[in-house]
Amino acid sequence: MFPPERILMGPGPSDVHPAVLRAQSQPLLGHLDPDFTPVLEQIASGLRTVFRTGNPVTFAVSATGMAGMEAALVNLVEPGDDVVVGVNGVFGGRMAEVARRAGATVHTVEADWGRIIDPAAFIDAVERHRPRVAGLVHAETSTGVHQPVAEIGTAVADTDTLLVLDTVTSLAGVDVRVDDWGVDVAYSGTQKCLSVPPGLAPITFSERAVQRVRERTTPVQSWYLDLTLLLGYLDGRGGRTYHHTAPISSLYGLATGLDLVLEEGLEARLARHATLGALLHEGLEALGLELLAEPGHRLPQLTTVALPDDVDEAALRARLLTEHGIEVGAGLGTFAGRAWRIGLMGHACSERNVRLLLAALERLLDQAPAPTATT
Ligand code: PLP
Repeated sequence: MFPPERILMGPGPSDVHPAVLRAQSQPLLGHLDPDFTPVLEQIASGLRTVFRTGNPVTFAVSATGMAGMEAALVNLVEPGDDVVVGVNGVFGGRMAEVARRAGATVHTVEADWGRIIDPAAFIDAVERHRPRVAGLVHAETSTGVHQPVAEIGTAVADTDTLLVLDTVTSLAGVDVRVDDWGVDVAYSGTQKCLSVPPGLAPITFSERAVQRVRERTTPVQSWYLDLTLLLGYLDGRGGRTYHHTAPISSLYGLATGLDLVLEEGLEARLARHATLGALLHEGLEALGLELLAEPGHRLPQLTTVALPDDVDEAALRARLLTEHGIEVGAGLGTFAGRAWRIGLMGHACSERNVRLLLAALERLLDQAPAPTATT
């Protein structure tokens, strides 16, 4: 199997540092081997740094970001609970659906695609419905919108509502402050700004969230994601007991990916994303293209950009892939067929990549005929 080389500048997965790939090819340890414990501890500690939390219950769920979303909601929600969810794109919509399937009565607070959820409207909905859980997407990957959370977190922290934050695309790309913002559960994915292959969902639970799970009167609908059962493996104090077979090689990769974040420094990494995101935004606007996320709330690591009306975006995207080896994502939902989603995540967030993409795009938009191969 020899996959072609690509530059991954879509909505994820992003390019992975070679050190992460090397780590994943190390010999296996048994998941109950005492020598594996330090790997789990290293991951928990690294995740606490990137989530900016002291939460003891911080780990990686053994599946992709959607499993993080499910783990957050199925553990906190009991049938009949009220849940408020902000919906301004695909992933807020999924959060609402997951909560519904867990038996919640869901109240959505909506905003147009490309706009933030108005914090005042969200806080108002929490005050009116007094939900058990309120959920928001921090970095809406379908629109490129960067949701402000601090004001909402402060308002919700004084209530019995637990705040769930989707940080799948935000973690290690823009600032995520779980403790300062009063977030009760935040989950993420490895394949975005952490630049680790897909397959794990970092997650963190506040003490009051863990307490809420322990006080449930109904069993968690998912056996696999039931936090109380998972803690038997994660909480080494009583000796680790088998729950499911931990994905050892993926966890080696995550431990190494987190090491790379710490080696660079979280602040430096966030600054790199901010600077290069701004460079990309400027470059796209200089090509006469329109950015679709509202000014002041644009993510550096995920940009939605409208293509000119007379351009077949799918054909252009295919040429970008085959002629330049660069992958970008198609627009979703409202933006489907007229926009691209450009990622600048983790290892792929480099000045070289910004300039390569802008040059390739300029060439393709000029409708330069594809050169015929001469060799
Ligand atoms: N939430 C957000 C904001 C995402 O961008 C994604 C994936 O792109 C997910 C959740 C789901 O993650 P996964 O595809 O890893 O299951």
